[in-house]
Amino acid sequence: MNISDILTHLGEDREHYFQAVAPPVVQTSNFVFPDLAAFRAAFSDELEHHVYSRGNNPTVEILRKKLAALEGTEDCLVFSSGAGAVAAAVLGNVSAGDHIVCQQAPYSWTNALLRKFLPRYGVEHTFVDGTDLDNIRAALRPNTRVLYLESPNTMTFECQDLAACAALAKERGIVTMIDNSYSSPIFQNPAAFGIDIVLHSGTKYLNGHSDVVVGVLCGSKAMVKKIFESELMTLGGILGPHDAALVIRGLRTLPLRVQRSDASARFLIEKLDNHPKVARIWYPFHRSFPQRELAQRQMRGCGGLFSVQFNTDSMEKMEQFVHRLRRFLMAVSWGGHESLLIPTVGFYGIPGKPEPALPWSFCRFYIGLEDPEWLWEDLEQALEVL
Ligand SMILES: *Cc1c(COP(=O)(O)O)cnc(C)c1O
Repeated sequence: MNISDILTHLGEDREHYFQAVAPPVVQTSNFVFPDLAAFRAAFSDELEHHVYSRGNNPTVEILRKKLAALEGTEDCLVFSSGAGAVAAAVLGNVSAGDHIVCQQAPYSWTNALLRKFLPRYGVEHTFVDGTDLDNIRAALRPNTRVLYLESPNTMTFECQDLAACAALAKERGIVTMIDNSYSSPIFQNPAAFGIDIVLHSGTKYLNGHSDVVVGVLCGSKAMVKKIFESELMTLGGILGPHDAALVIRGLRTLPLRVQRSDASARFLIEKLDNHPKVARIWYPFHRSFPQRELAQRQMRGCGGLFSVQFNTDSMEKMEQFVHRLRRFLMAVSWGGHESLLIPTVGFYGIPGKPEPALPWSFCRFYIGLEDPEWLWEDLEQALEVL
């Protein structure tokens, strides 16, 4: 299916709602049954019928159909956050006594799920440097049930070989899942490499306007039904219909937005590449990136995230650099319209927190939809203090 078909038509049965172009926000908790036959049919399968909006809601359903098609999977569930989608995917596939192998630098709250939360329920994990498949193979145990990937991750962008990981896991009956937020479905479709579950923080590119927190879980019909009936319905971390309508609106421009971010990031990286105050750049398609060949094999583009280590001799100068940036906003998250930075120096000197693994001269940038020349002017004037 062409992406334009997915974004403009799929799931939108306009004859059911006055031929409206924009889908209605079906803001209801429950649905009426006209007779007992309808009642019985609905309770035979709550994922396919309308019973109660913790389960299925027509606005949310439109979003689910589009997202499943974007990732090339049979079905999809949406959650009230990316963290909720990650938790549902992992919890849905482990029991006490099981073991998870995870690439070593996942998103912080995924890390917390494995390190702090799951051990309370008897689920163990091993973090491995996933840039080498041998490390993953060596970490597998007879009780390993899940291989958790994030390729690329969102600070230093290490990749895993998706096809090789999927093949290795399939041999041993291990479920593979990946956080695909970095690439978005526009630049990488892990299901095509055999990965079982594709997760997104839809808060980032999918919604794309920094005004909704949302999570996405894509997979086979059987996997989605299993997680729907258990983790989604019991833990209840659902997306409301109003937020679903906002994400549907965000999706209309997804290809335009990620392509714009990608082009602007490449423009700025080229400028930074030639600047004497830049020591190193992290970007999967950058000529210095150790896994560039793998990244180019798996991904069609990178998007707006990249990281830079600056050449400077003092933390004070680094702090001045951060404060001189006016057009970049200092904030977590990414994938919206606005360009952002996370300076590692901000994590130094927080009372009660250990110093980060990354040096204080490191910054993660996200390039939004603004004029890239205007962003470069800002960077260039701030670089003068380093
Ligand atoms: C933001 C993020 C998450 C968590 O998503 P929320 O929507 O904030 O809960 C998970 N993974 C990655 C890579 C993220 O950037």
